Amino acid sequence: MPYTYDDQNIFAKILRGEIPNNTVFENDHALAFRDITPQAPVHVLVIPKGRYVNHDHFANEASDAEIVGYARAIGAVCKLENVTPGDGQSGYRSIANSGEDGVQEVPHFHTHILGGRPLGRMLARA
Ligand code: AMP
Repeated sequence: MPYTYDDQNIFAKILRGEIPNNTVFENDHALAFRDITPQAPVHVLVIPKGRYVNHDHFANEASDAEIVGYARAIGAVCKLENVTPGDGQSGYRSIANSGEDGVQEVPHFHTHILGGRPLGRMLARA
């Protein structure tokens, strides 16, 4: 089933400059900004500039340039936030919630970058 992108979602409004954001990094294909309700000392959201609903949509339909730009943006954010393990820093977790079971609230693909403290188990035990 093809995805339908909702132009009125909050991240679409951020990309259009209709509501403010706390930008951390930007390139041709991605924007990174601080989560409004941070769950860790580092909590940055990285979003593609294209109209993609979730990771599945992005992975299947984005161009190679968009995918590379997005991946590089995540790397740049981790360096800027001083959480890059390869630089001897404390590390991070990247999360892309998708769909209902993933509990995705905003229907514009985004990756959470979380760090700055030990994050515990990936999932709470059911
Ligand atoms: P998800 O459940 O993966 O869709 O996460 C959506 C995230 O967007 C949540 O962590 C919210 O705190 C965050 N969020 C919602 N509105 C804004 C906003 N205006 N600026 C920054 N982050 C936001």
